[in-house]
Amino acid sequence: MGFSFLTEKTRKEITAKGSSGMEVILASLESTRDLQTILNILCILNELVSVGGGRRVGVLVSKGGTAILLQLLITTSKEWPPSEELMLQLHTILAKVGPKDRKFGIKARINGALNITVSLLKQNLQNHKLLLPCLQVLRVYSANSVNAVSLGKNGVVELLFKIIGPYSKKNTSILKVTLDTLAALLKSKANARRAVDRTYVPTLLAVYQDWHRNDTRHRHVHIRKAILGCIRNITNIKLGRKAFLEADGMRILYSTSTECLSVRTLDPLINTSSLIMRKCFPKNRLPVPTIRSVFHYQLPHIPAEGPVAQLYRQPPDVDDVVDESDDNDDTEADTENDTENEEDEKNHKTQNDDIETDISKLRPKENLTRPLEDLKMYECFFPELSENFQGYSFDSSKSCQTPAVLPKSLAPIVVPTAHAPSPLSLAQGELTDLPLDLDSICISKDGPGGAGGAGEGLAQELERVALEEDTLNGQSQSPVVGSLQGELEHDDDCSSHSSGELGVLEVPDTAALLPLHDPELYIDMVKGTKSVPQYTEVAYPDYFGHVAPTFREHILERVYGVQRAKIFQDIERMIHPNDILDKVVYDLDLKRSPVIDDGESLKFNSQFESGNLRKAVQVRKFEYDLILNSDINSNHYHQWFYFEVSGMRVGSSYRFNIINCEKVNSQFNYGMQVLMYSVQEAISGHPRWVRTGTEICYYKNHFSRSSIAAGGQKGKSYYTMTFTVTFQYRDDVCYFAYHYPYTYSTLKMHLQKLEALRTPQIYLRQDVLCETLGGNSCPLLTITAMPQSSSNDQICQFKNRPYVFLTARVHPGETNASWVMKGTLEFLMSPSPMAQSLRESYVFKIVPMLNPDGVINGNHRCSLSGEDLNRQWQRPSPDLHPTIFHTKGLLQYLSSIQRVPLVYCDYHGHSRKKNVFMYGCSIKETLWQTNVNAAACDLQEDLSYRTLPKILSQLAPAFSMASCSFVVEKSKESTARVVVWREIGVQKSYTMESTLCGCDQGKYKGLQIGTRELEEMGAQFCIALLRLKRLSSPLEFRNSSHFLDVENDLIESRCKVTSSTTYVLDEDEPSFMEEVDYSAESNDEPEPDPDPQETPADEDGLSDSELALRRS
Ligand SMILES: [Zn+2]
Repeated sequence: MGFSFLTEKTRKEITAKGSSGMEVILASLESTRDLQTILNILCILNELVSVGGGRRVGVLVSKGGTAILLQLLITTSKEWPPSEELMLQLHTILAKVGPKDRKFGIKARINGALNITVSLLKQNLQNHKLLLPCLQVLRVYSANSVNAVSLGKNGVVELLFKIIGPYSKKNTSILKVTLDTLAALLKSKANARRAVDRTYVPTLLAVYQDWHRNDTRHRHVHIRKAILGCIRNITNIKLGRKAFLEADGMRILYSTSTECLSVRTLDPLINTSSLIMRKCFPKNRLPVPTIRSVFHYQLPHIPAEGPVAQLYRQPPDVDDVVDESDDNDDTEADTENDTENEEDEKNHKTQNDDIETDISKLRPKENLTRPLEDLKMYECFFPELSENFQGYSFDSSKSCQTPAVLPKSLAPIVVPTAHAPSPLSLAQGELTDLPLDLDSICISKDGPGGAGGAGEGLAQELERVALEEDTLNGQSQSPVVGSLQGELEHDDDCSSHSSGELGVLEVPDTAALLPLHDPELYIDMVKGTKSVPQYTEVAYPDYFGHVAPTFREHILERVYGVQRAKIFQDIERMIHPNDILDKVVYDLDLKRSPVIDDGESLKFNSQFESGNLRKAVQVRKFEYDLILNSDINSNHYHQWFYFEVSGMRVGSSYRFNIINCEKVNSQFNYGMQVLMYSVQEAISGHPRWVRTGTEICYYKNHFSRSSIAAGGQKGKSYYTMTFTVTFQYRDDVCYFAYHYPYTYSTLKMHLQKLEALRTPQIYLRQDVLCETLGGNSCPLLTITAMPQSSSNDQICQFKNRPYVFLTARVHPGETNASWVMKGTLEFLMSPSPMAQSLRESYVFKIVPMLNPDGVINGNHRCSLSGEDLNRQWQRPSPDLHPTIFHTKGLLQYLSSIQRVPLVYCDYHGHSRKKNVFMYGCSIKETLWQTNVNAAACDLQEDLSYRTLPKILSQLAPAFSMASCSFVVEKSKESTARVVVWREIGVQKSYTMESTLCGCDQGKYKGLQIGTRELEEMGAQFCIALLRLKRLSSPLEFRNSSHFLDVENDLIESRCKVTSSTTYVLDEDEPSFMEEVDYSAESNDEPEPDPDPQETPADEDGLSDSELALRRS
């Protein structure tokens, strides 16, 4: 083409909008039969599209150019031998048109163009001039999955391997296109199988090594990456992974990657290599005998349907840890399309099918499910509605006088239930048949005398203190605080933390620091707490208490390459198996935990209230794999952890890996740290949990997850949460937790201490709502202001205060909810005028812990029934879900006497989002999301459900209005929020979610959340209620209308949709810094059938229906 037919001006005219130039050229191309004319026109076209980028090609495509060019290819190739110049011109232009035409692949196949290009290739393997455009066109053909299968059948894979050669500086563009085409073809499982059969896997690995060795100046990273692309696609099939392992692929990719680590521009190679290695890493079995909880609790009866029934239906000898089906090549081949992380969430976002579209399910449900006479039993929880306060002295100068109506705190008022047998008789074992017997729970472990030297070491001191207290209290025995025995190596000079006086422990003065904490009282409370494992130990942090640190704890910045480094360390386990210790140091599945006392290993313990750690395996000298225990009567749900570590060496970095995490993503990838409590710190005056850990990340690992626990999905893996800690003190006892622990015994202690805050102005009642399955009491609080006198007016005002109903901690792992609740309770009991004004405005009914059993036993989500209690509100069972049944009963009772609460709020914690926010319920906002019920938008709805969150967003620094959602999801129809809204008729019915991580807006932006902020949130919630009250009072309304620009708000929200599961996730979570290596696989979309049928779904790579398939 040495000579140009067109000036640039002409080119522009031809392709300009509205110009018919292109049509004219195409028309002449179609009509002419003269070879020279055709060549001339093709030259013009090639020139036209070679400048100006994609737009001109777009014009060519839009004018039907593809079909005309492909037709030309067919007709001219029938003349034998085809003109080389013509074929060159045609393929050059098709190579440009192809990528711009979505239907190119299918058009070419229908026209029969595939074979023409292939045979042209076969005859011109040495003709590089023609080879290149032909390969480029072939690459476009191969992008279509049906074409790929058909090209493979015609020997194209083998053909391409003839072109791939050793390192050479020549013809690199040809090699690159060849590799890209090959990679596209290898996405087909049939082609991948073919490649394995022809032993191409070792070939590719050898080629990769060759390029790695010779491309020392990294000029051809794209070629090296393309080779890896081929390997990656072959290893999507099981045979491919096998061939890869047999060809020593792990070691090859591991060593080449290690050599690339220092050069940042080689990251794509390392990332792809790591992806392949992780995929090929043989799936390991989780080292536990069963994935069911270690602890067993016999339920009074098992509901016919649901997860527990499923669990119990399994034959006892079934191995639920691994799937047998995993070994089945055929089924496996089609199920291996993991979607994860962003992808999962993105799919969710587009699919959006969780939104309730059935308007009848959004409308109030009027009929009470329980008869009125049945609800009468709740009357006793509302004495404030009938009390007349006659004979009560209202002289506030008298010291705190408890009104006669108030029962003794925590007196066990057990609500009789219809069919429930006495909870005590339900418990298994002999000990629990009796009322808790102190002697029986106070079995200490080996006892101080049983080990080591006398009286040395922190643990010894602590134990002695426990005993001392016993003497003081005149008790024979008491639960053992901590568990360390005297086996720690000890150096007398190191006891600086005990002021040199051996045996005298400086217990932190938590009473001064923490008015609501009392270690002795805590021990007393523990004695009344019934756990399934019958714990006899108390964790130091719960005993000493936690004083929030004054320093700021920033959200951890993720260091580049951390995840990759961790994954490489994991891969080394396979490459250097001899370096792996594999030493079990803690195991609840064994009757007796292994005694490790060689000074080489850490010691673990989790056998205390809220503790969760099932097993610890020392992998390397300073690295441990940890396994969490499933919720009781369940085979999954674990995320919460709380355990003790001792026997550490100072200054060494320990890596901990929790290897059976379930969620696809975690805030641990976005700056959240674990919490650590050091007993040495505590006794030196800083009893506190601090955020700790470096090199934290969360990623998919090589432990396979049984489909039994993965909702039937096969081929799933667990995730690893890894963190690294360097211990500061020798002879320390440290605790790690997912979030600030808050045990049931802590709650009981706080509730007792609240009594002390009572003033004559405060009406405080503590009742026991019911007993839990595990035989623990579920406290119910009533807080309001005492009437100022027994005058009719005052009593009338007292009795007519609207109710505010609050609940928390239905999910045991969400300890932050308890800290928020603590803030609320303390505010409500405070002497401040604002608190008094609030008490005068409302009656607060509070169930601060809806799931005591789950909390006590270290569950993450469920109660002893193995079910998520926040999915039982529609039909709670009095036997299996007593706390929900009776809390709902209280609300139903209020509804039956026309005293529906003004506000209901259930406190939760959120593991994947930042800030504090609310979910509410709105028919309109729900229907707006769906477009199905456009007509329903005419319905009238009171917009005041937005007021409280709006006020909170102005008051509370951690609160974010942008994260709130008022959409009702189908999956949430049996949650407290939705049921209280629909069935009880509370318009302002909310879930308040507090982050486990931190804030990305407001005053606390960039900081991790602590107990101080959580408690503040609880107090701000109260202040918001006061403001809500003032807004609804007409006198003040005029001045404060700025609070309530509700309509404007609503209009904004129509544009910016926010919903719990569907929309906000990606806003909240920034994309990964190391995007590539996070996803184990991104290219394994389903293949068409081996014998592909021509269906529209198969067109052009990934169709919508295929995407839908991947989603499902
Ligand atoms: Zn929750």
